Amino acid sequence: MSRGKRPKWMIDIAVERMNILFERAEMEFITHPERSHRYVELARKLSTKYNTKIPEKWSRRYCRKCGKFLYYGHNSSVRLVDEKVSIFCGECGHVMRIPYNKEKKNKRRAKYESIKKRNDE
Ligand SMILES: [Zn+2]
Repeated sequence: MSRGKRPKWMIDIAVERMNILFERAEMEFITHPERSHRYVELARKLSTKYNTKIPEKWSRRYCRKCGKFLYYGHNSSVRLVDEKVSIFCGECGHVMRIPYNKEKKNKRRAKYESIKKRNDE
């Protein structure tokens, strides 16, 4: 296949497949974590192949370093440190720091608070 930008319909399909892979990864993590890690690998391959980003919804659900699926409260934890979101990977110990985006602040705060609540339960 030629390099460069793919037609939009092709990218849409790739994004849809990535969503499905991550949804499965989330569903199967508790029973088959090794499958989840494999799904992440496949999604990342799609991302490279179609030169398109992993959907933002899932971009923090895998470790940038070791590529494992991250399940908050199981092999991962999220903290707010110095106005940055820190995502800790329990698989390799890598910490990803994401700057706090002011425009999305309120939205993200709600999101992380709901995750935190889930972790505390
Ligand atoms: Zn890792």
